Amino acid sequence: MNFRKKLSTLKVPHNKHTAGVHSICVDPPKEVLLPMTMHAGAPAVPVVAVGDYVRVGQLVARDEGRFSCPVHATVSGTVTAIEPYQQADGTKTTIIRIESDGKMERDPNLKAPKVETLDEFLDAVKSSGIVGLGGAAFPLYGKLDALRRNKIETVLVNGAECEPYITSDHRTMVEHSDLVVKGINVLKKYMPEAKFVISIEANKPDAIEEMKRVFADDPTVEVRELETVYPQGAKQVILYNVTGKVVKGGQRLASLGVIIINVTTLSKLAQFMEDGTPLIDRCVTVDGSAIAEPKNIVVPVGTPAKYLIEQAGGLSTEPGKVLIGGPMLGHAIGSLDEPIQKATNAILAFNKKDSKLLEPSDCIHCGRCVSVCPVFLNPTAFDRAMRLENENERADTLERESLNQCIECACCSYVCPAHRPLMETNKQAKRFVRKHYAAKKEGGK
Ligand code: SF4
Ligand code: SF4
Repeated sequence: MNFRKKLSTLKVPHNKHTAGVHSICVDPPKEVLLPMTMHAGAPAVPVVAVGDYVRVGQLVARDEGRFSCPVHATVSGTVTAIEPYQQADGTKTTIIRIESDGKMERDPNLKAPKVETLDEFLDAVKSSGIVGLGGAAFPLYGKLDALRRNKIETVLVNGAECEPYITSDHRTMVEHSDLVVKGINVLKKYMPEAKFVISIEANKPDAIEEMKRVFADDPTVEVRELETVYPQGAKQVILYNVTGKVVKGGQRLASLGVIIINVTTLSKLAQFMEDGTPLIDRCVTVDGSAIAEPKNIVVPVGTPAKYLIEQAGGLSTEPGKVLIGGPMLGHAIGSLDEPIQKATNAILAFNKKDSKLLEPSDCIHCGRCVSVCPVFLNPTAFDRAMRLENENERADTLERESLNQCIECACCSYVCPAHRPLMETNKQAKRFVRKHYAAKKEGGK
């Protein structure tokens, strides 16, 4: 991967209306829907049956397979269905439906894990169901497993939160700084020589101030203010901007002596180590031009989008588009019954005017998409390759042009004056390449 001396990034409107608003906790929804694929890795496998009574934090699905992750009940109540489910992005999964009894009765077996060795620590983290909450949803134990093989010199605590509208990590730093301190103390035990750099965009001055306050006497922790640009929070971008290091395609970050951990993920780890609470809830930003009262709301994982919207005063107008996630990386949902998942940081609803998609036209070869790509790719090459008739030629061209290096930041789509859906094309291209080579491998057996 090539990098320019200064990475190309975008100035996008922040629209962080909820930045200064304290997050609220609300009553649990009547029902939660827990997909078995809320993480990157093999699906979890249900261990409960329809009719079972479950308590908050109780294991309802075990991890099985590579980078799988367990799922826990997020409300107390009765399992009403375990059934196939098609998610908004078209992927198929299995969900466990739990009807809440409204009591939020906690599983009495939950307690702080007793850990001494690294193996015990990693086993405990695995059982917590914690995934990266910055968006990738990679199981935390999978990331921390690198401690077995690599000497970590820098832990980059990612508090950039560069997507417009979203302020969930921001509020974690302001409202739960104690958990950020505890999370860092947990990690220090297994990385005694590491330096921690809490990296925050300049548009969150209160979070920067709070982090500086709580770490004022800790020389191992630096609070770094970063320029407010998109996609500052992307792994490759923040790594380069904070450490000057570049991760090459296929290279593991830990081999550079660095681990990047999202700040809310860290706070969830601290909570788990303190009292055994697995990942069962999260703070979600509810905002957008069709939302009556934008808010940050803490809800159980699996809460349907419509319940969150109701808690934010409901819709102020008929929405043209509702997104799970931010305007750059999120995806549109067709039904407000869609549940929030472990890594869902926002529900955004936009009025019809703000939702209008402009018709794509032919590329005018302006080069803007190339100049803005933070990892120095040529999005027009992928766009062209996807129109090649010959599938072998198409797959080989996409490979040659380093499609797999695309971090799906959407900067190219954002600047394209011809409104070409370049990032969506890249996602489609990745799916095509995966299928193409899998079929070839299968055929070669
Ligand atoms: S979506 Fe991919 S190709 Fe487009 S700017 Fe981002 S990294 Fe580059
Ligand atoms: S930004 Fe759009 S119009 Fe310009 S070169 Fe890229 S694809 Fe073509």
